[in-house]
Amino acid sequence: MQSSFADIILPLALKGRLTYSIPEEMQEIVRRGTRVQVQLKDRKIYTGVVARVHNDVPDIKDIRPVMKAYGSDPVINDRQLDFWNWIAAYYMCTEGEVMKAAVPAALFPEGETNVPVVERYRPKKETFVELARRFSDMELNEILDSLRKAPRQSDILTAYLYLTGYTADSEIKALRKSYVLKKSGSAPSHINPLVKKGIFKQLSLEVGRLSYPENKTEQIRDLSNIQAVTYDSIRRIYKEKDIALLHGVTSSGKTEIYIHLIDEQLKKGKQVLYLLPEIALTTQLIIRLQKHFGNITGIYHSRFNDQERAEIWKKVAADDPGSGYRLVLGARSSIFLPFSNLGLVIVDEEHDISYKQHDPSPRYQARDCAIVLAGIHKAKTILGSATPSIESYYNAERGKYGFAELKERYGSIRLPSIILANSREAYRKKLMVSHFTPELLNSIDEALSKGEQIILFQNRRGFSPYIECSDCGWIPSCKQCAVNLTYHKSIGRLVCHYCGYSISVPHKCENCNSSGMVTRGFGTQKIEDEIKIVFPSARVERMDQDTTGSRNSFNRIIKAFEEHRTDILIGTQMISKGLDFENLTVVGILNADNLLHYPDFRAHERSFQLMEQVSGRAGRRQKQGKVVIQTSDPDNRIIRLMLQHDYQNMYRSQIEERRAFNYPPFCRMIRINLKHKSRADLNSFADILGNDLKGMFGKRVLGPEYPLISQIQSWYIKTLLIKIEKEKSLAKAREMIRAALDRLEKEKGAGGLRIGVDVDPY
Ligand code: ADP
Ligand code: ZN
Ligand code: ZN
Repeated sequence: MQSSFADIILPLALKGRLTYSIPEEMQEIVRRGTRVQVQLKDRKIYTGVVARVHNDVPDIKDIRPVMKAYGSDPVINDRQLDFWNWIAAYYMCTEGEVMKAAVPAALFPEGETNVPVVERYRPKKETFVELARRFSDMELNEILDSLRKAPRQSDILTAYLYLTGYTADSEIKALRKSYVLKKSGSAPSHINPLVKKGIFKQLSLEVGRLSYPENKTEQIRDLSNIQAVTYDSIRRIYKEKDIALLHGVTSSGKTEIYIHLIDEQLKKGKQVLYLLPEIALTTQLIIRLQKHFGNITGIYHSRFNDQERAEIWKKVAADDPGSGYRLVLGARSSIFLPFSNLGLVIVDEEHDISYKQHDPSPRYQARDCAIVLAGIHKAKTILGSATPSIESYYNAERGKYGFAELKERYGSIRLPSIILANSREAYRKKLMVSHFTPELLNSIDEALSKGEQIILFQNRRGFSPYIECSDCGWIPSCKQCAVNLTYHKSIGRLVCHYCGYSISVPHKCENCNSSGMVTRGFGTQKIEDEIKIVFPSARVERMDQDTTGSRNSFNRIIKAFEEHRTDILIGTQMISKGLDFENLTVVGILNADNLLHYPDFRAHERSFQLMEQVSGRAGRRQKQGKVVIQTSDPDNRIIRLMLQHDYQNMYRSQIEERRAFNYPPFCRMIRINLKHKSRADLNSFADILGNDLKGMFGKRVLGPEYPLISQIQSWYIKTLLIKIEKEKSLAKAREMIRAALDRLEKEKGAGGLRIGVDVDPY
């Protein structure tokens, strides 16, 4: 049937799809998922994707025609379009915003007015060689015999046969010419006679710009007995459920289990997506997987440029087992790759906060989206972590997810021993050397003298100052929200970042009446300078956002540590993930208080996760590691639980708190950010919206109030938070909020207002 109209998604923040008419000559070509070029009212030309073709005459006066169609092959498949649609609805954004985040711009060029769009994506070609035809064993023997006087040619052929594992009844595989030459130690001229003799043929194929090992080099390792039991239980879960949570202590072999699950899917001809926090996508892990799965393994993260991303995209789309990617290791945005046949999605370090995109829109949580994506493909999902998020553990507890465990480290290495160092006491007794307690200094000293390595962890989560009683450790907190109040120096007040409640800075402790109230929260970079003074002969490096501007510098620092050219590595969150160092025995956490007192309802959960992850780096091989935690509050409940590596009781205490104060998973949160260049206008619009929402949602609305960072450049910011009970319909709530925002946008002067909506803003 012919369709006259096409609804088109453009990579812009437009509210809905745009409808265009399909010219007669394009009717055969324009289909769901194909690319087309259209012109907007402002005459700008864009390339978009067709979301639907139909014959429903739209209610618009002069409907414009599609300008150009780029062929009838869909570049966005049905499943992707369904996925985009779900994301846009759930996260209250437009499909265009999803598209912008999802596709490399090179695939959807943005045209200038009236200038024809040329496709910017240019694939790179490379020369490959393969056997000219299938030869029997006898023929091959004859050929090799005939080449006895031409050892170079014989080397090339032998190398090819060895590398491809050729047998008379296997597929003929193409190898990169350069690779074969390198492996056989030959020059290009040596291949030509083989081509002339009709033994080889050369072909020019599209390849990625990124070089990977050509073939697998290592067999998959057998699972230990304990791992095998867990693996079997996951397979049993999958008979009934689609999602499994794997709670395995650090270094227990979660990755080995993933490798077995991946292998199983690949053998069935399915694709696998392996999600990791960007920073855990280390060369170490990539090499480990490529050794097993070879060049069907693709990598995807935000540090690739657009051209490279376009190439990876095409290799995922190529449903050709010879040249496409079947396994993708990627950071959060890889959920958008054009998978057609996923069998398994792995979300490793599922608790990690970097799965959430905060800005720009779509403000999605890649773990949650991955589950939906797997659902669309009828694939299985595995969530893995040593410290699962409270939400996931709760889902497992309720039976929504299946649950599997690995309680022991591989090789029965013990979890690191933990030493608490009381910094308040050390300050009082004047035993502190700058920011270091005697316990930490002794441990560093001892490790250095044995030629072992040390990691010192300092929290990146900036500087969120709070007030503390230096005598009893009391910290002012919000009675309503149970989070610590943040000190705002500029206004001299303590502010709650959930509800806006604020008080002037108290001069006396409410608990012990002492007048020793002090500000806490120290900077990060000083640590490096100071440790160099204390240990002048140690080789010290620092790894944080300042020192790792490029991916290379990140890898360089890791490599230097791996090769023991560095003794002490000082780092932020970046060093807590996925790294595996042989000679690392001491981990120091410089300020646990900073983590625990961050004004967020997840502060305790996050502190536990971070401390457990960081300490997981210590003593992964032969020796048991040691972790020194510096804190002014050694009796803190979370720290006590950390001492025992007691995840379960941490979970219990947190889930009770969440229930008591109505936080996720017992409610859903939607945050609305308003920005305006005029403070007065911002206040009045925020009040209008606040009142409108309170009329509908009542006490579920918190704010409007100023957030932690209340001004960015010339923009003032206010936020509103809406908490919706789990039992209530989220869809209905979104609809009501959308309506309130539409009313707000119609207010006079609302043009200067920027509105951002964040669903699950944590
Ligand atoms: P996790 O992902 O839980 O942190 P890994 O899978 O990285 O744990 O395993 C930790 C270490 O133990 C790695 O160096 C890994 O190579 C080794 N290991 C784990 N399981 C096995 C196994 N079955 N056979 C050989 N080595 C293993
Ligand atoms: Zn006190
Ligand atoms: Zn509050």
